[in-house]
Amino acid sequence: MKKILVTGGAGFIGNHLCRRLLQEGNKVICLDNFFTGLKRHIEDLLSNPDFTLIEHDIVEPISLECNQIYNLACPASPPHYQFDPVKTMKTSVIGIMNILDLAKKNRATILQASTSEVYGNPLEHPQNEKYWGNVNPIGIRSCYDEGKRAAETLMTDYHRQYGVDIRIVRIFNTYGPNMDPKDGRVVSNCIIQALNSENITIYGDGSQTRSFCYVDDLVEGLIRMMNNQNEFTGPVNLGNPSERTVLELAREIKELTGSKSEFVFLPLPSDDPVKRKPDISLAQKELNWTPSTDITDGLKKTIEYFKSLKN
Ligand code: NAD
Ligand code: UDP
Repeated sequence: MKKILVTGGAGFIGNHLCRRLLQEGNKVICLDNFFTGLKRHIEDLLSNPDFTLIEHDIVEPISLECNQIYNLACPASPPHYQFDPVKTMKTSVIGIMNILDLAKKNRATILQASTSEVYGNPLEHPQNEKYWGNVNPIGIRSCYDEGKRAAETLMTDYHRQYGVDIRIVRIFNTYGPNMDPKDGRVVSNCIIQALNSENITIYGDGSQTRSFCYVDDLVEGLIRMMNNQNEFTGPVNLGNPSERTVLELAREIKELTGSKSEFVFLPLPSDDPVKRKPDISLAQKELNWTPSTDITDGLKKTIEYFKSLKN
C-alpha cells in the first residue's frame, strides 16, 4: 500500500485526485492551508482510515513519511494568485523547495503541477514542450507564471544535483464539479451567472482562446505520469486540445443552461494570453493518454454540480 502526499488536496483538482487515489487502495495524506481549498471538498473523506488531513502551509518545512508526492499547493485562478502575489511566489519557490527536501529525505517520487502559463502569451501555436515561452517578468500574472517556471527549474536541479525522482506536468485550463464558485475562472463565473440570470461577464471581446479539459481526464493523466516506468520526467502537457474562444464557451454555457442572461463586455486584464492550445503528442506517446470527455458532456456535469449548490 503506497503512502501518497497530496499538497493542495482540498483544492479543486486535489480533492478529485485524493478520491481517485483512495479508490485505488492507497493511503492518502492531504496537506492544505485552506487558502483556496474548502473543508466541504474533503469532509466526507475524514472518516476514511486511509485518509489523513494535515493543515499546514508548504512555505514552512514539514517532516513526514511518504512514497509519492503530488505538489498541487498553489492558488490557481488569477484573482486568487493576484490577491497576495508575494505569497504566491513564496508558495511556488520556497514551498516547492520544502516539498523537494521532503521527497529527497523519503526517496519519494514528486510530481509538480506546473501550468500552461509557463508559455505566457505564446508566440507558437499550439504549444509543445520544447517552446520556452513568452512571459512578462513584471506583470500582474508574473507571480504565478514566473513562480511556476522557477519551480520547474528547482525540480530539474534537485533531479540533476541530488537524483530526486521528478515528474513535471504542465496543466492547461481544467474544469469540472467541485470548482469553487468564488474562484473567478471563466467556466465557474459563466455557469453561475447563467444559472442566476445575471449578466455573463466577458473580458475583452471574447476572441481570446482557451482549451478546456475535464477534471477526470486530467487526474488520469497525473496518475499515469506519476507511475510511468520509462524514466520519463517531463515536462509534459496535459490538456484537451479542443480550442474555443471565450465567447463561444459562454454561448455554449448559455445554451446548455437555457439562460436568458445577456453578455457584458468588460476590459481585458493585462497580459491575458491571446490564445492557448496544448500539443499533447508527447503525453500520447509517453503515457498513452488522451482526454476522452467531450466538452458538452463535461459542461453538463459541471452545470449539474453548480445547480446542486443552489439547492
Ligand atoms: P485550487 O486553488 O482549487 O487548489 C489549490 C490548493 O492549494 C487549495 O486547496 C489551497 O488552499 C492550497 N494551497 C495554496 N497555497 C498553499 C500553501 N502555501 N500551503 C498549502 N496549501 C496551499 O487550484 P486547482 O485548480 O485545484 O489547482 C491545483 C494545482 O494545479 C495548482 O498548483 C495550479 O497551479 C495547477 N494548475 C491548475 C490549473 C487549472 O485549470 N485548474 C491549470 C494549470 C495548473
Ligand atoms: N474570463 C472572462 N470572464 C470571466 C472570467 C474570465 O472572459 O468572468 C476570461 C479571461 O480573461 C481569460 C479566459 O476567460 O481570457 C480564461 O480565464 P480563466 O481565469 O478561467 O483562466 P486563465 O486566464 O488563467 O487561462
